[in-house]
Amino acid sequence: MRLWDIEGNRYTDFTACFGVAALGHRPKAALQAMRKQSAKLIHGMGDVHPSESKIRFLTLLSQMLPFAKANTILSSTGSETVETALKTAVLATNRHQFLSFEGGYHGLLTGPLRLNSRELFRQGFDSWLETSATILPFPESEEATSKLEDALKTKKYAAIVMEPVQGRGGDRAFPKQFVQDAAQLAKKYGTLLIFDEVFTGFGRTGKLFAFEHFDVVPDILCLGKAMGGGLPLSACAGDVLEVWGKSTGEARHTSTFLGHPLACAVGHATIREIKNMLPQLGKELILIEKEFGKLESNKIAVNGLGFMKGLHFRGTQPSFAFELSKKLLKQGFMTLPSGEKGDVLSLTPPLIAKAKDYARIFDAIKSIIQHK
Ligand code: PMP
Repeated sequence: MRLWDIEGNRYTDFTACFGVAALGHRPKAALQAMRKQSAKLIHGMGDVHPSESKIRFLTLLSQMLPFAKANTILSSTGSETVETALKTAVLATNRHQFLSFEGGYHGLLTGPLRLNSRELFRQGFDSWLETSATILPFPESEEATSKLEDALKTKKYAAIVMEPVQGRGGDRAFPKQFVQDAAQLAKKYGTLLIFDEVFTGFGRTGKLFAFEHFDVVPDILCLGKAMGGGLPLSACAGDVLEVWGKSTGEARHTSTFLGHPLACAVGHATIREIKNMLPQLGKELILIEKEFGKLESNKIAVNGLGFMKGLHFRGTQPSFAFELSKKLLKQGFMTLPSGEKGDVLSLTPPLIAKAKDYARIFDAIKSIIQHK
């Protein structure tokens, strides 16, 4: 989890570079797989002549997924997998509207962008995007469930789309009860439940997938980031993907790099390693939680799950998190602000981070706050 800039300054990475580098920046397993595969076949023809590497990856992935058939469409980016999920939901339900939540970030292609309420991303495109999503407030009270039911009753929604723990939205988990209610109501009104686990998938929250914290299995799961071990690889999975049917000729939904052999080889090595690491991660997280416990105070609140935590600084301006992030960089810690106002300091390090790494950054944070 160490990086050096061109002047030789050393940094401890608490971002995993947007949550991707789950095993760090030079993981042996991924490097070996990359060397081996690059000597064989780098690029292939994903759905015309699937490579051995793609088949191995999908076989392993399907064993990890909570679905009976685990039909999966691969792609390269997070945005694309959400796009695939939206198209699937439209095909499966014959409805064209979606429900999402404030603070959600699902990528910036024009499908996922519809689910995003942030002015920054929507400006200039608003009227083009406005017709197909209702963006509900992040649920803070019980009233949220009845609002959700009112919306679902109209039976016009193809799917509810949510990140079980919002990443860019400020590392905040949805309330468990709300997620369970949403799953039940979605079923009742014929709406699909899409979990965007592009950020939360593969150990980020301390479990293989975040849905495990909520005891809810979504209809469609979107995966990306950590899954490719640093190469662009994403997946949209669920039994309902059956609606695409068996291809009898030209594929209805595909892309040039679908099932990229090199990405699949590195992805295979990466997800296998993450799965094997989980028991050890659980033990380290107990120690890490203790460090968070020591940091929490009347000035600092902590949100999020596992290796996906957001710090809130009570009584400060929203810009404080950004300023703090800049100061931390000078002291050798890479962090990012998150939250709709950028007012949260996000800590999403590689999963190899240890409690002592957290203790070091917390000392730096406390000292900066004291000398503010
Ligand atoms: N979904 C989630 C939850 C994300 O965090 C992101 C990226 N931050 C995306 C989708 C979009 O991924 P990409 O930038 O690869 O398109």
